[in-house]
Amino acid sequence: MLVPRMSTVGAEALSAALRSFGIDAVVPPRAGERSMAMTGRFITGEECLPQRVTLADFIEAMSEPGFDRDKAAYFMPTSAGPCRFGQYANLMRKILKELGHENALVFSPTSTDQYEGIAGNVTRFKRTAWRAVVASDALRKMTYMYRPYEAESGATDRVAEDALKSLCTVLENPDLRLGRQLRLLSGVFEETRDRMAGIALKEQRGTRPLIGIVGEIFIRFNSESNQHLVRRIEAQGGEAWIADVSEWVWYTNTERERRLREAGQSFSPGMAAAKIRRWVQKHDEEGILAPLRGIFRGREEEPVEKLLEYSRPYLPHEKAMGEMTLNTGKVIAFQKAGCDGVIDASPFTCMNGIVTEAVYPHVSRDFGGIPVRIFYFDGVPIDLDSALEIFMELARGYRRKQGRG
Ligand code: SF4
Repeated sequence: MLVPRMSTVGAEALSAALRSFGIDAVVPPRAGERSMAMTGRFITGEECLPQRVTLADFIEAMSEPGFDRDKAAYFMPTSAGPCRFGQYANLMRKILKELGHENALVFSPTSTDQYEGIAGNVTRFKRTAWRAVVASDALRKMTYMYRPYEAESGATDRVAEDALKSLCTVLENPDLRLGRQLRLLSGVFEETRDRMAGIALKEQRGTRPLIGIVGEIFIRFNSESNQHLVRRIEAQGGEAWIADVSEWVWYTNTERERRLREAGQSFSPGMAAAKIRRWVQKHDEEGILAPLRGIFRGREEEPVEKLLEYSRPYLPHEKAMGEMTLNTGKVIAFQKAGCDGVIDASPFTCMNGIVTEAVYPHVSRDFGGIPVRIFYFDGVPIDLDSALEIFMELARGYRRKQGRG
């Protein structure tokens, strides 16, 4: 099974979780120019960039020696809703057919049922997959907290790469009981925390302008698609804090409970299952993050309910829904947590991005003038450095106004 590289860390961890379930899951190689160009044969240009990048990566994998089409499956989540995302699994099936891959298995868990389809009622897999999401979020967050300050270039990435390997070894092991799996994951973070703390620094941590990153979930994590936005922010003297993947999972939980309440099922087996699921996920998250409490002090993620409350004056979540309302709330959460600016990374013509672009000036006005800027990506490189240079100046000005340096 090919698992799209939304972020390398997340895709590797999820693949490891799938392997623990007996599925031979791998992250496809990054598409070269040829595979990217080949996508033009199958799409019209009206599709969003994540669809094109995912297709290009799949084509790249198919052209590798030894690739067996008859045994391949493609991981392509879906969602009900007004934006184009709900169409892409079907489009992928159609394209695979055109590529001569008649019986292609496109595996499409959906956010509508909180991704139940990933493994039916197989609790073990669902918990392992959730742990993979939480662990990869935490590893990414730590990396971004240390990397801008390292004295030796590459030192933080080396620690992070070792940590990812160790996490995957735990996640892919089918023989571990869930309790032991959790303790081992937590152990990886204990060791990683200590190794990161030992990295020689050239500047004191936390002294750079802090830039929150929100946006469309694929583009904000897929560094090839966003022209390595985080590294560019770091090169321009900033530190990045990116909204987690797990935020979306918490959001689907909240939405499910809201829909049940609206259907008059506040006291129903469905609601009980949703509450238990939430409790179990919280328990696993706390277990994994326990060794990182000190490092993440002051960088805690606000609960999704809080984000939805923040976005209510601009995009009430009962009506707007999805990433647009989450991102608006997260911009405010980032401002409250001490960010000096927020960037929204979205694909060109993304429905969510178009809506939030109209809302952000109001949010900025209401929250002390914090700079909030949306960058659109369509696969054609833009002069990101020049635009970032201006943005970072605004962020430094805002930081000074807040008395932070
Ligand atoms: S969220 Fe945006 S980029 Fe993603 S499918 Fe919807 S419109 Fe396209």
